[in-house]
Amino acid sequence: MKSQIHFSLSEKEIPTHWYNLLADFPEPLPPPLHPGTKQPIPPEALLAIFPENLVKQEMSSERWVEIPEPVREIYTLWRPSPLIRAVRLEKALQTPAHIYYKYEGVSPAGSHKPNTAVAQAYYNKVAGTRRLATETGAGQWGASLAFACGQFGLECNIYMVKVSYDHKPYRRMLMHTWGATVHPSPSNQTEYGRKLLAEDPHCPGSLGIAISEAIEDTIKHPNTKYSLGSVLNHVCLHQTVIGQEAIKQMELAGEEPDSIIACCGGGSNFAGLAFPFIHKKITAKKKYRIVGVEPSACPTLTKGELRYDFGDTAETTPLLMMYTLGHKFMPPPIHAGGLRYHGMSPMVSHALKLGLIEAEAYHQTKIFEAAVQFARTEGIVPAPESAHAIAAVVEEAKRAREAGKKRVILFNLSGHGLLDLSAYETYLSGKLLDA
Ligand SMILES: *Cc1c(COP(=O)(O)O)cnc(C)c1O
Repeated sequence: MKSQIHFSLSEKEIPTHWYNLLADFPEPLPPPLHPGTKQPIPPEALLAIFPENLVKQEMSSERWVEIPEPVREIYTLWRPSPLIRAVRLEKALQTPAHIYYKYEGVSPAGSHKPNTAVAQAYYNKVAGTRRLATETGAGQWGASLAFACGQFGLECNIYMVKVSYDHKPYRRMLMHTWGATVHPSPSNQTEYGRKLLAEDPHCPGSLGIAISEAIEDTIKHPNTKYSLGSVLNHVCLHQTVIGQEAIKQMELAGEEPDSIIACCGGGSNFAGLAFPFIHKKITAKKKYRIVGVEPSACPTLTKGELRYDFGDTAETTPLLMMYTLGHKFMPPPIHAGGLRYHGMSPMVSHALKLGLIEAEAYHQTKIFEAAVQFARTEGIVPAPESAHAIAAVVEEAKRAREAGKKRVILFNLSGHGLLDLSAYETYLSGKLLDA
């Protein structure tokens, strides 16, 4: 064989700690504020919706946080995830660049999201929570949390945006299979949902509405907490197993990446790959180019403003300092459902502000072109979200070809697209439009 393709780690090499970038930022992260007083939120204020152990983790700047053994044990179902060299894509692009991808689609839910879902379910279990409430758009987060709750015997109550509930049935079926209860949102389970249904029985719902329902559900039910799949510090923290494994696997490959690329919705899969490399950038003065990639239709990092804003449409969350398009921003219905968020993780936003990372945006026709090229060369059908990273990789590899320079590119293939095939059908039949 000409070149090695797989760089595998054994089960024992699953990281023992998560890496917390809050310990190493050259400037401290601005704290979340209470929307009324505009003062930093006291930790107690968050205890109504999150368990104490996760609130502590959210605010902690401890550099290395030990991963509890029961969480590592569940991680062994799919971790360490593969690092693969995309030699067939390199050849098709006629590029001197070496392209590597970390593949998170091997998890039970098919994306990186179970890395935090399992951790959050565990911390809730040990804190005495019996039931978790959450929202989901197209269903990736709901499915991940349903799986994780099943592992720890927690009830899982999911508010799924009604249009997706009706039109994207497969992830709803996955959630049911793993034992969760799923409500189309707006639902008749909450006061807010009933009010919206009375006004318009055919309301299609939105992520903002579903968040408000999940929070109301949490506050009104005993032994219930709320869970979020991206954006927050503890979620980014849990994802850092991705980058730590990738660092070891790149060593096995005998190469160091020049460019590190991942797509950005709320920012967690990007954080997971990038933060351990940012650690090396800060402490070992490495010169990595680290790029977050987003849809042109929801250009938070490239066109948003850095300011305090609400995390949800109904203005129930604390104010977060982040790049934002405004909490009333309604992104067009692009196929990468997981990237349709008005804001960005405060930690990822801070890294951009400090010049530690860069950002790019691509239109959806371009990302599906890259996705299909990847599927036809490497075989794996990527999630439309992950295809944003691939589009940026293809551009980078073309620049390397034009400059005649060997570059080493590493990207996060955050999930597979086997439940997104209707989007591929739309693209292949020439009906996909740039929103
Ligand atoms: C949810 C999702 C994303 C976007 O979320 P982040 O928090 O930005 O990572 C990206 N890729 C896949 C496959 C997803 O399911």
